[in-house]
Amino acid sequence: MQSDEPRSASPTHQGWLRVIGLGPGDPALLAPAARAALSEAEDIIGYRTYIQLAGPFRDDQRVQDSDNRVELERARHAFQLAAAGHRVVIVSSGDPGVFAMATAVIEALEQAKDPAWSAVDLQIIPGISAAQAAAARIGAPLGHDFCTLSLSDNLKPWTVIARRLQLAAEADLVIALYNPSSHARPHQFNEALAVLSAHRKPETPVILGQSIGRAEEQVILTTLAEIDPKQVDMRTVVIIGSSQTRIIEAAEGRHWVYTPRWYPETGKNED
Ligand code: SAH
Repeated sequence: MQSDEPRSASPTHQGWLRVIGLGPGDPALLAPAARAALSEAEDIIGYRTYIQLAGPFRDDQRVQDSDNRVELERARHAFQLAAAGHRVVIVSSGDPGVFAMATAVIEALEQAKDPAWSAVDLQIIPGISAAQAAAARIGAPLGHDFCTLSLSDNLKPWTVIARRLQLAAEADLVIALYNPSSHARPHQFNEALAVLSAHRKPETPVILGQSIGRAEEQVILTTLAEIDPKQVDMRTVVIIGSSQTRIIEAAEGRHWVYTPRWYPETGKNED
């Protein structure tokens, strides 16, 4: 990693800001547009772990890693650099618009009301989100209507989270849970399971996607009644099936999970 020292000479070209998604972690799942932005960038900003996934970088590229909790500050810093003519990339894991940096960047822009920031050439480059990457490993559990919910109550009250869980469960949506559990709030995952269990059968398929696309990747297939909360941490995305989600057995004891695109009463004619 290089230092945070400002450069002596300001760049002479037009600056830009790209907010990119790294995907789950496997470089093969990084969009070519995101790779190109990384290679053209002069400044790369983001949370340490993600920057490590995005590297290595050249000596002429300035890497600024920071703590994950200062998203708005990071976004403002990126605009300042881009408005001064730098080519800046902000990295997020997965997709930058899913519980990640793209919202902070646009929020910073809205708050600043600065014409120089508004004039910055800004692009959001999408990435493969954790739920999509985990789903693909085991089949097509997100094949019908689904929703994503973050269980983190850092930015919203738990009462809102519990209500959304309840309504999503009642609506029979497949539910992908992000930020499912952390040391700071271990009890919440159990509370979430209690809400879901009131509306779903105990044998509902559940997928725990751990560190998808990284060396430690594990995909665990279990059920609502049998989930082991100790297997769920902040590197896990949890997919809870709907009433229609099915498990099939393939060769060599392998299991596939999918949610059909039709409901029994409608037949199979949907496009
Ligand atoms: N923007 C990211 C989500 C950031 S929120 C995305 O689109 O994937 C952080 C949460 O995402 C984690 O707590 C975890 O639930 C999930 N997550 C991110 N990367 C993951 C991965 N490689 N494997 C499993 N879950 C992951």
